[in-house]
Amino acid sequence: MENWACEYEMVAGLETHAELSTATKIFCGCSTAFGGAPNTHCCPVCMGMPGSLPKLNQKVVEFAVLAGLATHCRINLYSRMDRKNYCYPDLPKAYQITQFEHPICENGWIRLQNGRKIRIRRIHIEEDAGKLLHEGESIRIDYNRCGVPLIEIVTEPDIRSPEEAREYVEELQKILRYLGVSDGRMQEGSLRCDVNLSVRRQGETDFGERTEIKNMNSLSNMVKAMEYETRRQISLLEKDTPILRETLRYNVEKGKTESMRGKEGADDYRYFPEPDLPPVILTEKDIASIRQALPELPEEKYQRYTEKYHIPPSDTRLLIKYRSVAEYFEKAAHGLQNVKTAANWILGPIFARIPTEAEKERFAPAVSPIQLRELLQLLESGKIPLQPAKQILEKMLDTGESCGRFITKEQLSPLSEDVLREACQDAIRQLPQAAEDYKNGKTKALKALLGMVMRSTKGRAPAKDAEKYLMQYLE
Ligand code: ADP
Ligand code: MG
Ligand code: ZN
Repeated sequence: MENWACEYEMVAGLETHAELSTATKIFCGCSTAFGGAPNTHCCPVCMGMPGSLPKLNQKVVEFAVLAGLATHCRINLYSRMDRKNYCYPDLPKAYQITQFEHPICENGWIRLQNGRKIRIRRIHIEEDAGKLLHEGESIRIDYNRCGVPLIEIVTEPDIRSPEEAREYVEELQKILRYLGVSDGRMQEGSLRCDVNLSVRRQGETDFGERTEIKNMNSLSNMVKAMEYETRRQISLLEKDTPILRETLRYNVEKGKTESMRGKEGADDYRYFPEPDLPPVILTEKDIASIRQALPELPEEKYQRYTEKYHIPPSDTRLLIKYRSVAEYFEKAAHGLQNVKTAANWILGPIFARIPTEAEKERFAPAVSPIQLRELLQLLESGKIPLQPAKQILEKMLDTGESCGRFITKEQLSPLSEDVLREACQDAIRQLPQAAEDYKNGKTKALKALLGMVMRSTKGRAPAKDAEKYLMQYLE
């Protein structure tokens, strides 16, 4: 908890732009691929040449509706594109086509771990602008990004700490990735957040004047910028200096927010209905058929894993962070009695070999989920004890081969009773102190003896039998 939190409250609302993963742009057939040579994915439409006519990509509508459904929004049967006029070199048409008055989705929410709902005011469709490349004295322009489809997700001012903001963005990112509508990569700019932030005294019901920090490109910078800006605004309030409504940027090197420009009123943009595009009309039937395409969402998975499989919340979060990991887990665990073991093995030995987030997102371990399940079934049926099974998993991960190849006769055949009894007697001889403790009523001491039996039999001893014999000999 920050030290200002007892006297002041931070209030924030987020505007998040997500680039949609469509193959082509929003109003023309140009490619949306990232990283092409500058100005190679362009045509008269996305360059805004006079006389060219836009045509709305239906995939964009579908993706926006999916995002709206997944965040509990109302989907509007009528929405419309508007022109937002402004002059800047990254926008050759001198206007952006966006949805101002009639957005496609409204009134949704995303729930945080603490149970609070961050309300979503609206989700609207718009086009991206080009990119300015600053090279020494000169500026060059790459128009490839012009006309890449975006959705903008706007929250109500419901966020109360930088950590809540981080969690909200992470949840949103997860939902968009599950839906396949955006890859949500902040570092590559496919997810960008503007933070509106104000402060007020605890107990105050009115909101204070706010500033807007533009274009956060990583979660850690967003948190730092919000912490800095909160402290800055509080120190102004303490000095009775009014807070100016302005647009800020976060300077990463200095760790400070700095002014970009005073806030223009919305009417400066001279919005009007886009004359070259018809309104976006949807029927209930269209929405129902898009709803059909919704996958099981992270929130639902969370409920199912914790309630039905009894996987602890922290493990569940790791399993559902990426859809590919969750799907792998579900395949591997299918039909098993002890689903938790599958979870533990994925989060333990398998994750150990896949350290980076990017690799986890792609999640393609050398062992397929079916191969893992085969091994887990042998473990569950008692055909292989735990320790050898773990060793076999490592070999499978080394080679990508199924477990059959690595299971030795020795591992499969159960220990004979004689060998097991001998191992138990041996353990008692080697750990006289533990044996003594057990006889004196310290039942926990049995664990040490059992451990010794497991070691000497290389994990092949059935634990129940070993315990039974140990107790017999100790009596
Ligand atoms: P604008 O019209 O300037 O874009 P909006 O009213 O649409 O302003 O709000 C933009 C964002 O700012 C929303 O996410 C909203 O939740 C947030 N916001 C509005 N008022 C405040 C405030 N006083 N403090 C913090 N955030 C705010
Ligand atoms: Mg705004
Ligand atoms: Zn084009």
